[in-house]
Amino acid sequence: MYILASNMNAFYGRGYGSGYYMFDWTYLLVLIGLALSLIASANVKNTFNHYAKIRSRSNLTGAMAAERVLHRAGIYDVSIQKVAGNLTDHYDPRSKTLRLSDSTYGTASIAAVCVAAHECGHAIQDQKQYGPLVLRSTLVPLANFGSSLSWPVFFAGLIFSIPPLLTAGIILFSLAVLFQLVTLPVEFNASSRALKVLEADGILGTEELAGGKKVLRAAALTYVAALASSILQLLRLIILAGGRRDRD
Ligand SMILES: [Zn+2]
Repeated sequence: MYILASNMNAFYGRGYGSGYYMFDWTYLLVLIGLALSLIASANVKNTFNHYAKIRSRSNLTGAMAAERVLHRAGIYDVSIQKVAGNLTDHYDPRSKTLRLSDSTYGTASIAAVCVAAHECGHAIQDQKQYGPLVLRSTLVPLANFGSSLSWPVFFAGLIFSIPPLLTAGIILFSLAVLFQLVTLPVEFNASSRALKVLEADGILGTEELAGGKKVLRAAALTYVAALASSILQLLRLIILAGGRRDRD
């Protein structure tokens, strides 16, 4: 449920032609990506809100369910804490802390139990040193570096007509895209681990599991939308760079 804010940067839509302003049609790619992200985010909120109103038959809150899932996986060194905000739930591998939002921590609903179990899925991945999670952690600094420097470098390349800078900007942005690509297996795997334990341990019944799957699928789709949005922005950079090279 945790989205790196730095990867959500949308680039500005100014046209920069040869000395005059023109409509930059490639900005449409950014807008399409933005629309996809907004739809995915509205969808996860709606689905979560719906299943947050349905009480879990086990009467377990998110925090209680998380403890059970962790213990079942043999994990006793992860602490469960409350964090402010809505859908801010995440697992922090550095401090081995599971942070559950207000609406997850103390609520006994299908949504709360599933989100908490999903975050436990990340803790289990950490315990087992799940490959994509390890790779993703390694990529964090590179992705942050890439997404903050890509646009300034690319923009300088456009203004001063320096093709190597355009290429460097594209490569830097690709690092952020790569990070989001590696995020997908990590997220889908955490959810499937969560659902397996919830089912095997009888924390949720069959009907409840169907609802839980919807919540977790909606959450996973926000990562798919974020990746699609980044790929569209990357495509935009490639088109802009190609156009500039043709003009030079
Ligand atoms: Zn997750």
